[in-house]
Amino acid sequence: MGGQVNLQAALTGEKRQNLDIQKIRNDFPILSKSFNDKNLIYFDNAATTQKPKKVLDAIVDYYSNENCNVGRGVYTLSIKANMAFGRARETVQKFLNAEHTEEIIYTRGTTEAINLVASTLGRALVGQGDEVIISEMEHHSNLIPWQILCKEKDAVLKVIPVNDDGDIDFDAYKNMLNEKTKIVAVTHISNVLGTVNPLKEIISEAHQYGIPVIIDGAQGIAHEKVDVQALDCDFYCFSGHKMYGPMGIGVMYGKKKFLEKMPYYQTGGGIALGVTYQDITVERPLPFKLEAGTPNVEGAIGLEAAIQYLTEIGYDDIIAHENELLDYARKKLSDIEGMRIFGSAKKTSSIISFLIGDIHPYDVGNKANEFGIALRTGVHCAIPFVDKMKIVGTVRASFGIYNTKEEVDALYQALLQVKKAEWSVNRPKDRF
Ligand code: PMP
Repeated sequence: MGGQVNLQAALTGEKRQNLDIQKIRNDFPILSKSFNDKNLIYFDNAATTQKPKKVLDAIVDYYSNENCNVGRGVYTLSIKANMAFGRARETVQKFLNAEHTEEIIYTRGTTEAINLVASTLGRALVGQGDEVIISEMEHHSNLIPWQILCKEKDAVLKVIPVNDDGDIDFDAYKNMLNEKTKIVAVTHISNVLGTVNPLKEIISEAHQYGIPVIIDGAQGIAHEKVDVQALDCDFYCFSGHKMYGPMGIGVMYGKKKFLEKMPYYQTGGGIALGVTYQDITVERPLPFKLEAGTPNVEGAIGLEAAIQYLTEIGYDDIIAHENELLDYARKKLSDIEGMRIFGSAKKTSSIISFLIGDIHPYDVGNKANEFGIALRTGVHCAIPFVDKMKIVGTVRASFGIYNTKEEVDALYQALLQVKKAEWSVNRPKDRF
């Protein structure tokens, strides 16, 4: 059980956290706001994280002092904006320990990053009868792009089974790999169960067949220190907004050897240095070749500030704090009669998914909202996975650096009230 492993680490003092949580909370203006006359308890960090003042200030500062379209002007302001944009990319490169700056491609987020890989590398590599491997626990963002690609190419989408604990069946995965496999695409951390996948092992197995591996890092990036060279992943995709940065900015890290061969994703301004009415005569080099149009400079600057913020706090302390919270929550919530916590994978992170008896997850979420508690309820954009579990959805509490045990206690108290409540609420009909 992942929870037990984490608790063990906490008890033995291994990687003890050393954070001043109140100081961290003070960095986030929204955390002092009230909703429904209650102080906000924000447990929806897997959907998006709140933003520290450092990120907000960086964005205001950029627009107040440096705003200009990048790459196109010879005047001082334009050069300044260009330099800030380039510096932000270097910050991302160092953060991921990527070998080259041009391996960092900006996107709108994880979803666009995966679509980018699927529609360029995917289209180039996958042919009729070929195979693409994903896992059962994938978010729609790492399922549907591959589904569509396989349909278009008359290829086969293979899905690694996930056991009741929430771990992928590694033997089944190994047996799936063969010379027809062209791509493996798996999530770093499950947004439904919090399972942390054994990426190194997954990648090295695929590499024995020379297969590139794409990691959906949407949930990984804020909760694990990512070193793309140590992992040896070929692509790592993530969103700024899930790591305390702004919405609308994300990154597709890709090994240069793949990016160099990849066809255009979108075309238009910024991708060519020579054009006739008939053709592109001179391509613009990476990373710009894959970033058509005006980029999200504000987003890149905000993402850089988020990276600096997390780096200053330190990932060891962040992970230790979140693991301690997760263990605490698992134990505390288990006391509630009828509580069903889903998943107990070998390694878990920051997410607890549950149901109480047969109370609908939306009803739990509605009631918790009356106590100022923000929970995510439903199918978490992973409908096939939730359907496989034969449930309507789950209630998900997901933790970030600013959450506390006191907030978990408040959740526990709210859930006791949920059990006592009468239900006559309107539930959304759609499954989110
Ligand atoms: N993959 C996973 C595992 C996710 O949790 C999410 C967001 N919920 C995504 C992909 C998509 O991220 P975004 O909406 O930021 O593109």
